[in-house]
Parts: sequence; structure tokens; C-alpha cells
Amino acid sequence: MIERGRISRIQYFSTGDGDGIRTTVFMQGCNLRCAWCHNPETQPLDTAILNYSEDKRVLSGEDITADELFKRIIKDEVFYIESGGGVTFSGGEPLLQADFLSGVAKMCKGRGINVLFDTAGCVPYQCFERVAPYTDTFYFDVKAVTKEDCEKYRCGDPKLVLDNLKRLCLKSNVVVRVPIIPGHNNSKEKIEQIAGNVADAHPSRVDLLPFHRLGAGKYRAMNKEYDYLYTEPLKKSDLEQYVCIFEDLGLKCRIEK
Ligand code: SF4
Repeated sequence: MIERGRISRIQYFSTGDGDGIRTTVFMQGCNLRCAWCHNPETQPLDTAILNYSEDKRVLSGEDITADELFKRIIKDEVFYIESGGGVTFSGGEPLLQADFLSGVAKMCKGRGINVLFDTAGCVPYQCFERVAPYTDTFYFDVKAVTKEDCEKYRCGDPKLVLDNLKRLCLKSNVVVRVPIIPGHNNSKEKIEQIAGNVADAHPSRVDLLPFHRLGAGKYRAMNKEYDYLYTEPLKKSDLEQYVCIFEDLGLKCRIEK
């Protein structure tokens, strides 16, 4: 087990990253550069600085030991028990630090805490194997399934992602998450492509996520260009047309807030 890892930040009392009240640990570092990413500060493997104003500078990237991270996670144990919550490892790409997090996840499971990993899945399958014994649920993003789309939107190698998804679904509880992005996959044709590939893997559920612009301020604070600054956010009702595409293929599907 690797004793030290690097986190971006910890969000306590999170209710959008799995069941119940959760502590979400955003890990520092990602191997992708998705065009619509709303956590750009988590992308660098080292650190990033967000300059919100002269008085407000935020550093993303803190080295931490497994014991210290576990200590911070169990602080809210009582809320996990009462709400059916737990801990979510997100990012960035948490599985880039699979060795470190397998140790932390093991400690959490040993304490009866529910563990969820939120991944983009573009990593060697061994990373999944490291954490799977201590993981209750994987949230697994599928954003595109063609090479052209993945290259254009910088969201990984679709073959590796889909192969990992299929293997993982054989042994683990996997919820596929599909962010619906205007100009990219917000069409019946693209969603049918995605649904056909996802159905082959048989995940336990598919969640559709409407595009939002909540990360825009971070791009400004990092002095980075954001391609979606003027793109209108989507509403839940915009996604209703896609639910039956997944259901017709035998998948459970819901729209996230
Ligand atoms: S995988 Fe997630 S964290 Fe990484 S660039 Fe894409 S959206 Fe951002």
C-alpha cells in the first residue's frame, strides 16, 4: 500500500455523489481533459491555484497520509449511519491513485462505511482490481463511444473504457453515468450509440446528467479558456426523451438533478 496520496479537496455533507450523506474526496490528478470538465483544478497531477480575487486564493493539491484521510472520513460516521451514506472517491481520476486509495477504502470497509468510486474508467484494469474488494459501488462515466468523438472532446480511449466497463460489471455494482452535453451527445443518434454499447455491459443502472456551467468560475480563476461559457445549461425535462432509449434495451435509467 502507498502511504501518501494527493487530494484536491474534501467536501463534507455531500448529497449529490451517491446515496445518503457522504464525504466526497476529490483526488488531485486526471489523465483526461474533457472539454466540459467542471473540476479543472483537479486535472494537474501536482497542484493548481485558483485566484478568485486578491484576497481569495485556493490551492488544489494537498499531500495526505492514508491514516489522516481515514481520520477525516470517519469524522462524519454518525451521519453515514443515519442517512445510509458513506464516502465517495472522485476527482480528477481517483483510480490514478488506486494503490493509495485501496488502503483507505479497506480501512473504511473495515469500519462498515459504504465506499463509492466515481471514475471515467480510462485506466488499466488492474486499478479496478486494487480497489474493487473494498468498494460497494462504482459510478462509471461514459461520455462518448466513438474514437472521433473521444478525440474531439478529449475524453479518453473508448475501447479501453468500454472493455473495462464490461469486465467490471461482471463482478461489481456499477452505475453508468452519462453527462449530456450540448453540441456533443445531446441527440437521439449519439445517445443510441452510447446506449447500445452500455447495454452490452449490463450495469445495474444508468444515470443521465444534464449539462451545467458550475465550473465556469474555476476556469476564470485559473485564467483558462472554457469552451462552454455561453452554452445554456440543460433541464431535467430536456433529457426525458432519452430515458426510453436505455429502457428499451432493458436498462434501468433515471435523470439526475
Ligand atoms: S475525467 Fe472528470 S476530472 Fe477528468 S477531465 Fe474529464 S470530467 Fe474532468
